[in-house]
Amino acid sequence: MKTWNEPSRGRKQCASCKIYVGVRTKVCACGYNFTKPKVASLSTDKAESDELTSSHKFNISLVIPRGKSPIDLEVFERPEIYSWTRSLSFHYSRQNLFMESTVPKYFLRQYLDIFSVEYSRSCGYIDELYADKEIINE
Ligand SMILES: [Zn+2]
Repeated sequence: MKTWNEPSRGRKQCASCKIYVGVRTKVCACGYNFTKPKVASLSTDKAESDELTSSHKFNISLVIPRGKSPIDLEVFERPEIYSWTRSLSFHYSRQNLFMESTVPKYFLRQYLDIFSVEYSRSCGYIDELYADKEIINE
């Protein structure tokens, strides 16, 4: 087959070996297949995330709250963080708001230094809880 080292009308570049071949070439000299389907398009991902969003039973997501935490937190261990986060979620669900995980994390800064080990550990507990969407909405 004929190949070139520079681009020109009627040539296309091989994505694998970078040489130029005729536009109608289906398989390059190096074995690269021009007819291979492209990798999964972004639209598939978007459809999936839309589906996730619409499965929420609330109309609006709350990302950043106003003011101070409506529920106090004193102990920063897993069970306390879990129940506090759930209580907050319930508090907002009564206002028809879905509380995003950013909300309890934001409120945590009221109590903990953002650079502390306790803060990042507590955020980890919140993420655990949010990893299972069923639990958070109970
Ligand atoms: Zn090639």
